[in-house]
Amino acid sequence: MCGVFGVSGNASAAELVHLGLYSLQHRGQESAGIVAVRDGEAHGLRAMGLVGEKFGPDAIKGLQGSTAIGHTRYSTAGSSTLENAQPALVNFKGGHIALAHNGNLVNAPEVRVQLEAAGSIFSSTMDSEVIVHRLARSGATKPEEQLAEALQGLEGAYSLLVLINDTLLAARDPNGWRPLVMGKLGDATVFASETCALDIVGATLVREVLPGEIIAVDKNGMRTLELGAAPVLHRCVFEHVYFARPDSSVFGGSVDRARRALGRRLAVEHPAPNADLVFAVPDSANAAALGFSEESGLPLEHALIRNHYVGRTFIQPTQAGRDAKVKVKYNPVREILRGKSVVMVDDSIVRGTTTRGIVALVRAAGAREVHMRVSSPPITGPCWYGIDTPDKSQLIAANLTLAQIAEKIGVDSLGYISLDGMLGAVPGGPTGFCHACFSGDYPTRAPSVIAKNRMG
Ligand code: AMP
Repeated sequence: MCGVFGVSGNASAAELVHLGLYSLQHRGQESAGIVAVRDGEAHGLRAMGLVGEKFGPDAIKGLQGSTAIGHTRYSTAGSSTLENAQPALVNFKGGHIALAHNGNLVNAPEVRVQLEAAGSIFSSTMDSEVIVHRLARSGATKPEEQLAEALQGLEGAYSLLVLINDTLLAARDPNGWRPLVMGKLGDATVFASETCALDIVGATLVREVLPGEIIAVDKNGMRTLELGAAPVLHRCVFEHVYFARPDSSVFGGSVDRARRALGRRLAVEHPAPNADLVFAVPDSANAAALGFSEESGLPLEHALIRNHYVGRTFIQPTQAGRDAKVKVKYNPVREILRGKSVVMVDDSIVRGTTTRGIVALVRAAGAREVHMRVSSPPITGPCWYGIDTPDKSQLIAANLTLAQIAEKIGVDSLGYISLDGMLGAVPGGPTGFCHACFSGDYPTRAPSVIAKNRMG
């Protein structure tokens, strides 16, 4: 997954983008980058790793100009290498193009094959690079028309920020899969994946970029071009469940409110009346556990402490390594758990490996009974639209029954919120959301996998 941030009309554009990317770090930790434009000249920085570690103040000062875009990346298409870091930056006959993409294009491989047959040479294995090539080939005169032409026939999810010379473009796919908002900071226009990134630079939210909308901003002002929204939207419900930050509003609704409502609904669907207390697997399930506590009347305790200095980079390929990872990341508070029957709330179970490790820790700390409650339905399929979920073979709920999952993760009872319960709880629901990873109801065909060796 990824985060995007852009500014037009502020002399410190790159510094603002740098700040904004800090607030979008949770959307991608593999690589980050910034491109700024001054007097028609673009300069960029890209690096593997975290925004705070890789971009010092001196490097940012070198990125002059009043227009800039930035990106944080966690790879879902294309491998984890510097060539695949974004924003992509290229020169072409009409000047330069920079592009930052959040989402996943399901037909990128075949579009790439077509472009290669016509002579294109690709420099990365990212799905997003096909948009850059199509932009460079466009015969349209206005930047927003070039982008509209480049996006023709592309299927899947994209929230995009593009620089064509001095024009900043923002675009969202017609299904509205990924969030993208527009804000104002004085006279400057700001775009961000989530509103928490507007907050950090002091910008105020104006509105969402609409599904199927292209917005162009340059010295001539702002123009919009409608590709048109799909008749039924497919906004990603997992943004509310897990991905976005609770201090953000996505798709026009508060993530904190969504998660609390999910927790309350979960308590109605799967009560645990004889339990002594409820706690969250921090931090993503904090708000859902609070909702469960509010609805059930069970006291909320902080029974599991998360070490904030362990990032997702601490990835171990072996099972022994994964168990060690759980211990490094979480530690139980024995005084809270000893002798107690507890409700443990998490937002999702993916592989089940982390969950099993946490349950073992909670039991070792003396919990008498562990009742697990999950604020999303069982994940039974991969995401084709930008969330990094593994394929079916690794998804515990795609392969085991509820009773088998409970046994495998070692809990006394297990309750997942229902699909309807989830869709009814999120703001703006129950329709207009993509829930393919839970329901198998994929709104597009499967992604093409031509030349997998080259697409990473
Ligand atoms: P596991 O039990 O190993 O499936 O891990 C479940 C945990 O992974 C939950 O605490 C989720 O918050 C978290 N999670 C859910 N989706 C993702 C994702 N796409 N990438 C990383 N962690 C995730």
